[in-house]
Amino acid sequence: MCLLLLLLLAPGARADPAASPATSDALVAVAARMVGDDNRVRLVLEFQQEPDFAIRYLKAPDRAVIELPETVFAFDKSTLAGRGLVSAVRYGAAGKGRARIVLDLNKPARLELAQTGDEANGALHRLVFDAITVDESEYLDQVAETVWTLLDGDGTEQASAGDVSGALNIVIDPGHGGIDGGAEGPAGTMEKNVTLAFAQAFKESLEAEGGINVSLTRTEDKFLSLSARVRMARDADADLLVSLHADSIRIKSLRGATVYTLSDKASDAMARALANQENAAEEIVGVKLDGAAEGVAAILVDLARTETRVFSTGLAQQVINSFEGQVRLINNPHRYAGFRVLQAPDVPSVLIELGYLSNRDDEEMLNDEDWQEKTAKLLAQSVVKYRQTILAGRK
Ligand code: ZN
Repeated sequence: MCLLLLLLLAPGARADPAASPATSDALVAVAARMVGDDNRVRLVLEFQQEPDFAIRYLKAPDRAVIELPETVFAFDKSTLAGRGLVSAVRYGAAGKGRARIVLDLNKPARLELAQTGDEANGALHRLVFDAITVDESEYLDQVAETVWTLLDGDGTEQASAGDVSGALNIVIDPGHGGIDGGAEGPAGTMEKNVTLAFAQAFKESLEAEGGINVSLTRTEDKFLSLSARVRMARDADADLLVSLHADSIRIKSLRGATVYTLSDKASDAMARALANQENAAEEIVGVKLDGAAEGVAAILVDLARTETRVFSTGLAQQVINSFEGQVRLINNPHRYAGFRVLQAPDVPSVLIELGYLSNRDDEEMLNDEDWQEKTAKLLAQSVVKYRQTILAGRK
């Protein structure tokens, strides 16, 4: 399933066998089973090679995550299902060269490595985890202390554990470009220019924060398809994709910023219309939306994506928090719809409408360098907060 997901969502991977998830050095999980009850659950995993792994915890809802290197989950799906303390299990790719198993917890719990070792015949490597209930305050401590501790297969800490909290990779995507000008303001401002200017200010603000690697999907006025933008984020092994826009709307009086995340169902008619408008960017230069688009939409609900969505929503919330009282927001500023540019299965992604070019005042504001600088700084601060609260130590 995870293989299918990756192949469908990464056209580049099909053309480039080296990027295929089934590389020969990928870890292969050949068996998995779970036993237990409401207080204790044992998870047994068997691999063809000795696996490295890391454990961490997430809040709201409570989840324990087992991080693995690139893994082919070759076991029979029916053998691994939630039970007792663990209400559900998901597994799949989690970015380039990474995979994860996510356990949804009915109650706060800790995951302990109960035993490791090889099968009697030495052909398989086994990891046995016990999920044991803990009290709420202990669980909160686990979440707070979650730094990626990479362990070797025998449970000892890797010497490289200190590297695990590396720099955050963020890809900024200035919307539109080239023949696709985007919206146009009453005074003639082109959306594609606003998004590029703001992207550059945002890049500077992020770099000033330190510990953040920033790249742009485009640094000049050129056309880029939406799928190319998504691919660039995935190829950069991005931790975040922020797509920037400043669209038009028929209601000329409407002003303010909106933060969008991906959803199969739009939050409202306005969000749906906007997503349709943005997604149509492909058609401007005759990029045909093939049948795969439908398949992709269906796969978006794949459980492997849930974690990415949780992270995307977390970032959206941080952006709104830091804008509040400083940058004008529309009502219900977090909205969602099926934006194609947000469809990377493994890169938390948000689309920010900075304002509406259909409104004269917003148009003037979007062109104002002081406003750009101030807003870019607030946006950079929200990324830093996001990293502190959610991505602490990821990688
Ligand atoms: Zn746009």
